[in-house]
Amino acid sequence: MKIICIGRNYTNHIEELKNERPAEPVVFMKPDSAVLLKQHPFVIPEFSQDVHHEIEIIVKISKVGKYIEPKFAHKYYDEISVGIDFTARDLQARLKEKGLPWEKAKAFDGSAVIGDFLPKTDFASMENLTFGLTNNSEIVQKGNSSLMLWKIDELISYVSQYFTLKIGDIIFTGTPEGVAAVKPNDVLEGFLEDKKLFRIQVK
Ligand code: MG
Repeated sequence: MKIICIGRNYTNHIEELKNERPAEPVVFMKPDSAVLLKQHPFVIPEFSQDVHHEIEIIVKISKVGKYIEPKFAHKYYDEISVGIDFTARDLQARLKEKGLPWEKAKAFDGSAVIGDFLPKTDFASMENLTFGLTNNSEIVQKGNSSLMLWKIDELISYVSQYFTLKIGDIIFTGTPEGVAAVKPNDVLEGFLEDKKLFRIQVK
């Protein structure tokens, strides 16, 4: 199983990090070892002083596909959830400065939080989904899939030009604004519409 992540897919988040608006989706990956095991706390790694939460809508691939056309992309996933793309922002900044790959800052153990999946048939439209993250019960990030620069179907099509999608692969579709550092004892809860799909403790 692989995790394919999209960066810079919401204008307000691009602006908060002072990044350039990309001409094409920004893509990176996390290995399966990045998945935070269920019921486990997220332990802030020793190599970072500035690990940020990034809440994102995630989809689980249900069918093998390559060169998928956007109009057929909806057939390649049945389930949807929210997750966190934890990012060691200080390390990422150093890597970006040198033009080096982001993996150490993005793909470390525990950096991928995966919420409980729900059938997409539970929702009226994939293009108008509200989602959010609370930290210690306060809303810290809020987004809506209508604000994505590239929609879910476009992302599936795009990444399938480069990587064969396999059953069980997960796509992280990018974070809205509001990313911030986590600290020990934070409790993070992720929501899709009114459904709470994960709760994790930070250590
Ligand atoms: Mg992200």
